[in-house]
Amino acid sequence: PSRNDVDYFGAGPAPLPDPVLEEAAKILLNYKDSGIGIQEISHRGADAADILEKTQLCLRQLLNIPQSDGPEGYQVLFLQGGGSGEFSATVYHMVSVWVAKQWKHLKDYKLLGLDEDAVVDGLRDLVEEKMKIDYFVTGSWSLKASQEAARLVGGEKVNIVTDSRKHRDGKFGVIAAQDTWTHTKEESDVVMTYYCDNETVDGVEFQATPSGHNLVADMSSNFLSRPIDITKYAAIYAGAQKNVGSTGITIAIVSNKFMPPHAEMADPKLLRRLGLPVGPSVLDWPTIAKNKSLYNTLPIFDVWVAGKVMQRTLDLFSEENGAPRLAGQAAESKKKADMLYSVMDEHSSIYQVVPDKSIRSRMNLCFRVKGGDDEAEKTFLKGAESRGLLGIKGHRSVGGMRVSNYNAVPVAAVEKLAKYLLDYAKSEGA
Ligand code: PLP
Repeated sequence: PSRNDVDYFGAGPAPLPDPVLEEAAKILLNYKDSGIGIQEISHRGADAADILEKTQLCLRQLLNIPQSDGPEGYQVLFLQGGGSGEFSATVYHMVSVWVAKQWKHLKDYKLLGLDEDAVVDGLRDLVEEKMKIDYFVTGSWSLKASQEAARLVGGEKVNIVTDSRKHRDGKFGVIAAQDTWTHTKEESDVVMTYYCDNETVDGVEFQATPSGHNLVADMSSNFLSRPIDITKYAAIYAGAQKNVGSTGITIAIVSNKFMPPHAEMADPKLLRRLGLPVGPSVLDWPTIAKNKSLYNTLPIFDVWVAGKVMQRTLDLFSEENGAPRLAGQAAESKKKADMLYSVMDEHSSIYQVVPDKSIRSRMNLCFRVKGGDDEAEKTFLKGAESRGLLGIKGHRSVGGMRVSNYNAVPVAAVEKLAKYLLDYAKSEGA
C-alpha cells in the first residue's frame, strides 16, 4: 500500500503530520539551498543554533514556560537517551540536589569542632534512615522507572505511594483513591515524587496533577496534548517520538529551583563516599544546560522536526480569549478519543475497555474484543488491516488491542476506525 492508503495508530514511533514529513524529505537532501542535507550540517553551526532556539521558543509558548534566570524560570533541555535515560537522570539529579541541601545544613561542622569524616558519617546515616524517593506505580512505565531507582539507590529508598496492581487483581488499569496514597510523611526526606502522566502500555492517564513534594513527571506519551501548569513541577520530560517528532531526542523541562546556581549539586566525591551513584555527563541536566544542549552531538534533524510539529500546533490552534495554548489540541484529542470509546461502550458485549472509566487515556485506548477471545481478536485485527487501519495490536506484555490517538492522527482517520468498530460489532450481531 502507499502512504495514503494507510492510517496508523501505533504507540510509537508515532505518525508525523504529512506537511512536516514532506518538508523533512526535502531538507534531508538539501537544507536551505546549501547543497547539503540537514543531517550533515554541524550541530555547532549557526543554522543548528537557530533551529534549537526556534524549537525552544515554540515549546515555551505552547506550555507557557517561564523564561527567566531567576528561581521562577525553567530550563528547556534537549537530550538523548529516551524516556528510559530519564528514568535514571531524574534519580541522579534529584538525589544530588537533596544531598547537597543536607550537606549545606551540616557544613558548619567545623564551627562545632567536628571533623569532616564524622559529618560524612552523619550524612550517610541520614541517607540510610531518611532519604526516600516517592513513586506512583500506575502502569508499566512508572513501574520500570521505580525499578531503575531501586537499581541505582537501593529498593529500601524507594517508597511506593500507590501500586495500582494491588487495587485490581494484580493488573494495571486503575488509579486508587487519594486517601489510600502513602506519601513519605516528612517532606524534607523526599528527594522527588515521580509519576507517569500517561501510561502508554496500560491506557491509564491521570485526570489531574497528583500531589507530591518535588513533583517530576514522565509525559512521554501525552506531551503537548493538553495544557499543563508547569509551575507545579520540579521537572517534566518526554521522548519526542509520540507527540512531537521523530525518535532521537528527549525533552526535559527543569525548574531553576533545582538547577545551579539556585540549587547546589553534590560533589561526585561526596556521593561516592555516601555510596550514592554519580550519573554520566550526557544525562547530567546541569551539564546539558550549561552547554545549551550541545554538550555532545545532538541530532539536529530531530530538533528541527520537533520544532516544525510544535509550530504547526501553534498555527492550528491559535487560542483566543485568554484560553491556554493547547486547549484546542486538548479538545481535539478528547473528541477523537470520545468518538472511539463511545462506540466501544455502546457495544460492550463486543468491546471491553481495559482500564477503569475514570482514568481512561485519551492517547492510548486499550480494549479487548469479545473478552480477549484469541480468534475474535485475530479476525478483528485482520479486518482492520484490510481497511488500511494499522498498528492497533496491544503491547506484547498485555495483549489485546491498543489504539494510539496521538496529536498527528487525523480526525478523519479516527472516523474511519470508529466506522470499522461499528461495522465489526454489527457483523457480530451486536
Ligand atoms: N515513558 C513512557 C510513558 C513511554 O511510553 C516510553 C516508551 O514508549 C518510555 C517512557 C520509554 O521511552 P524510550 O523508549 O524512549 O526510552
